[in-house]
Amino acid sequence: METKEQALDRIQNFEGKYPKQLWYLFFSEMWERFSFYGMRGMLTFFMVHQLMMKEDVANLQYGATQAFVYAFTFIGGFFADKILGFRKSLFWGGILMIVGSIILAINPHQYFFLGISFTVIGTGFFKPNISTMVGQLYKDGDARTDAGFSLFYSGINIGALLGGYACVAIGKGYSWNLAFGLAAIVMTISLVTFLVTKKHMGPIGLQPETITADKKWYEYITYLGSLVAIPLIMTMVSKPAYTDWFMYIIGPVALVYIIIEIFKLKQKTEREKMYAALIFIVFSVFFWAFFEQSGGSLSLFAADHLNNTLLGFLKLDPNGVNNSSNSFFVILFSPIIGLIWIWLNQRKLEPNTVNKFGLGFLFLGASFVILYLCRFTANVNAIASLDVFTFAYFVMTLGELCLSPIGLSIMTKLSPKHLQGVMMGMWFLASAYGQYVAGILGAGIAQASDNASPIQKLNTYTEGYLQLGYYALAAGLILIAISFTVKKLMHEVR
Ligand code: GLN
Repeated sequence: METKEQALDRIQNFEGKYPKQLWYLFFSEMWERFSFYGMRGMLTFFMVHQLMMKEDVANLQYGATQAFVYAFTFIGGFFADKILGFRKSLFWGGILMIVGSIILAINPHQYFFLGISFTVIGTGFFKPNISTMVGQLYKDGDARTDAGFSLFYSGINIGALLGGYACVAIGKGYSWNLAFGLAAIVMTISLVTFLVTKKHMGPIGLQPETITADKKWYEYITYLGSLVAIPLIMTMVSKPAYTDWFMYIIGPVALVYIIIEIFKLKQKTEREKMYAALIFIVFSVFFWAFFEQSGGSLSLFAADHLNNTLLGFLKLDPNGVNNSSNSFFVILFSPIIGLIWIWLNQRKLEPNTVNKFGLGFLFLGASFVILYLCRFTANVNAIASLDVFTFAYFVMTLGELCLSPIGLSIMTKLSPKHLQGVMMGMWFLASAYGQYVAGILGAGIAQASDNASPIQKLNTYTEGYLQLGYYALAAGLILIAISFTVKKLMHEVR
């Protein structure tokens, strides 16, 4: 009989480039992201065009839902570590996501916020923990880990691409019930994939051994607690003031906790690396705040101000393009960027992580300047070029590839073993703040264009994007300017 250690060894000592288990997690995550991004792509459009909310309100509520999704990945990761283990977390999260989508499929108009709240909590239990399981397929220092994560990141984006395009197109063209129903079906495929393949995971993701039979009730309290949180989330999401309070509290609490942990570290180098990690986290908040306009204000911009022709002959729904072009470009360019880093490395020219982050912001800034340029392509009805808009997404995606996958790996490299989970949680919490600020920024842009003519509206939106572009460029320059100091804090880590 094989022991747990032997089983783990067998998995981690795989031959070739990828462990076979990676493919199982790849497909579960791909379908989960289909469902998540499919739903996400429908939110703002549905609120404005079906629930008849004002655009600024819809933007704020979109930002709030997304902020909660990412804040709960922090909480979901915490409970997986302490009580459930990754497998049970994934199962529970998947069930909640399916229930949420079924509620929406039955009556999206009536039960919109209830369904969304189920999926918020469900994603919190699912999303961070499947990524952690990927990391556990590898031994420390296995040089194949990064390649595994990039493959996984492609899976994320294949799902996001298909879901982001299909759901909103089905909703707009056929039926919203069907669109939300599709999210439920696809999430079921994700969960079944996981259940069928989990027997190949050896001891990875099992419940922590500290949860002995007499502590089983911790597990039930966790399930119960997450159900009790659903009406709370519903209330908080529907009233932006409550979301504000939640966001004011959770970030500072997490930060104080991390700082206490940093002070407990004995070596100065360990402490300094953690400070460097916190600098990356703070900058990532700004990155996601701008980047995440895609689900909020850019989705409204796409609905009202874009034609439906790409490259002169492809007829595409502009909202579908808005929801899926980012993923399309990630799938296409992620391997190419990887090769460019290797090529530069061989010539000793590869930028370090700080400069890659800086570069990420410069691309982001350039993409918002390109969005501003859309205004010069508009006709008398304020309908602008889908080509220019899509090109902006291409540039924005280059920025994401300089920052997002690198951010995940740098969190693990800069944190001591016992704080890696929490630091990954902090990385996602930064995304939560990014989403939250994205909603506020989007609402500001939408508010300014209330009751305006189409041309005035186009001008207000694009003016807003130009401002964001300048801020992103400034952030990039600041990062490059402080790179020397941050590099010192990082010590040997590149
Ligand atoms: N697009 C990536 C994903 O869905 C990263 C999202 C984020 O960290 N904000 O996993």
